[in-house]
Amino acid sequence: MNDVRTSSFQAFLEQLVGKEILLKINQNKSTYLSVSYPKDSAIKASIHKVFLDAELSVIQALAKYLKGSRNKKNFSLIKAFVHRIDGLEGRTTSKALPALHTDGEAYDLKEILASVLKFYFNDQDLGLEITWYTPKRKRRLTWSAKQSVTFGEYHAPLKLIKINSLIDNWEVPKIFVNFIVYHEILHNIYPPKVNERGHSQIHHKEFREAEKKFLFYDEIIYWKQTTMQNFLDKNHRW
Ligand SMILES: [Zn+2]
Repeated sequence: MNDVRTSSFQAFLEQLVGKEILLKINQNKSTYLSVSYPKDSAIKASIHKVFLDAELSVIQALAKYLKGSRNKKNFSLIKAFVHRIDGLEGRTTSKALPALHTDGEAYDLKEILASVLKFYFNDQDLGLEITWYTPKRKRRLTWSAKQSVTFGEYHAPLKLIKINSLIDNWEVPKIFVNFIVYHEILHNIYPPKVNERGHSQIHHKEFREAEKKFLFYDEIIYWKQTTMQNFLDKNHRW
């Protein structure tokens, strides 16, 4: 496998690791991940192709692992992903994007993406895709754990923005949906950084500064912390 997706996955991974990687994408039944550190050459890694579809947090965990971290919590993230994939019935082997659903009940994401790109990003063609999605309910760990709702996600290898269909609702102002889309576009423009301690930072300083350039940023954050909470209490089943 030596296609565009593999090379963009590799470039992304190398950026996170901060080192060159001799990457082999395997389709073995037995090996999900194997890595060696030859003295005089780049890190050698054989990674199962299912990781090409992994979400950002898993790829970051993978990057930490490749950097040599044997942190248990980090590794359990990778393990959880593999187990989830293992458990999927008839898992997709397609390299294609999932079916995109942009025309929602209240808002059309295609139109919103285009208008946000036009207004804030000089109408640049960043090659992004967008879709509504309904997240699977996560199992609650403890009754007191503070839950948070993810309004949007950015899937870097596929350049795919996914927006939680919870906010496809007339009670949510359009500017809030615009803001969430804006935030996810920033993930494309400001990829995660790895700091001196080897920790990957998603919402780093440059990211946050760019985020604040959104028109009415303060008002939106205030609204999110007040009215949006009531909306969530009413509409979101924890
Ligand atoms: Zn984010």
